[in-house]
Amino acid sequence: MIIDPNLTVETLKKMSDPELIRRAKKFSKRYCVGDGKKFKLKDYSSKPKMTLGPEDKPRVKEALEQGIDALAKLQEVLYAQDKWSLLVVFQAMDAAGKDGAIKHVLSGINPQGCHVNSFKAPSAEELDHDFLWRCVKELPERGKIGIFNRSYYEEVLVVRVHQQILRSQKLPEKLITKKIWDERLEDIRNFEKYLTRNGTKIIKIFLNVSKEEQKERFLERIDEPDKNWKFSSGDVKERGYWNQYMDAYEEMIQKTSTKDSPWYIVPADKKAYARIVVASAIINALDEMELDFPKLSEEEQGKLQEMRKILLEEKG
Ligand code: ATP
Ligand code: MG
Repeated sequence: MIIDPNLTVETLKKMSDPELIRRAKKFSKRYCVGDGKKFKLKDYSSKPKMTLGPEDKPRVKEALEQGIDALAKLQEVLYAQDKWSLLVVFQAMDAAGKDGAIKHVLSGINPQGCHVNSFKAPSAEELDHDFLWRCVKELPERGKIGIFNRSYYEEVLVVRVHQQILRSQKLPEKLITKKIWDERLEDIRNFEKYLTRNGTKIIKIFLNVSKEEQKERFLERIDEPDKNWKFSSGDVKERGYWNQYMDAYEEMIQKTSTKDSPWYIVPADKKAYARIVVASAIINALDEMELDFPKLSEEEQGKLQEMRKILLEEKG
């Protein structure tokens, strides 16, 4: 475990990279769904499994910093090897902390190796295509990490909760049947399988915030002038559909969580803890790729030595 009551700031600082990665992987697995068939949202809490008081703050901060550091090192190898890519999908209710998690967890990463995309309500051009189209265009290249802040999963969440959105999607009427949600879930599952078979690893993060904590965060956004910009009145209206959203999330996770592209159900009521879980999940995904720096052939090694000689013999 990366956060363990026995781990102090000092022990965390001294921990070797392999040990840190091992602990992060183990920690992430607590929140990993894998095969989703039997998934029930009620089995996952929005609160951390341990109580973390103010005295734990330095330890939690250090754990996150070490996690970010390990992540950055793995990303460097991913980039150098240029074979695999990683797609991290974030989905959550409003104010669950998607933006903050993305900002903090990726803060150590070389910006050249990472690309973040936020998906809002689709534009007229996007609605002129199938629902995956706008996401396919933004998939990460080999060697890179792609972050989707919301994604094609909105098609079985917001669109399912507000079915009038489906009517505005310009689909042929004949295709809008009761089966459409099952069909979309199947299409997403197949799409992810296809990407996995082509070297893009996909993990999906659900930041599981409670309805009470969301209320606190909305109030904070209203009461603190510097946070006013984050608040939109539509968010309160959306909150009224909480149960419908939870049902949609549950079925989505049941039908799209697989061993190869799992969902992680991250307790999101404590932001710092949530970020450590997210960092650990990404570390786990990268480590599973068994990345390695490209190795040069003997011939290429020979050429390097020749170049070395030329450089050393340079005059002036
Ligand atoms: P914040 O947490 O800061 O509010 P956000 O991700 O909610 O960030 P917004 O601009 O508030 O960003 O909201 C984007 C909105 O776009 C969400 O309400 C989401 O449900 C909606 N959206 C995303 N994809 C689709 C889609 N395919 N169809 C309809 N609405 C969508
Ligand atoms: Mg919003």
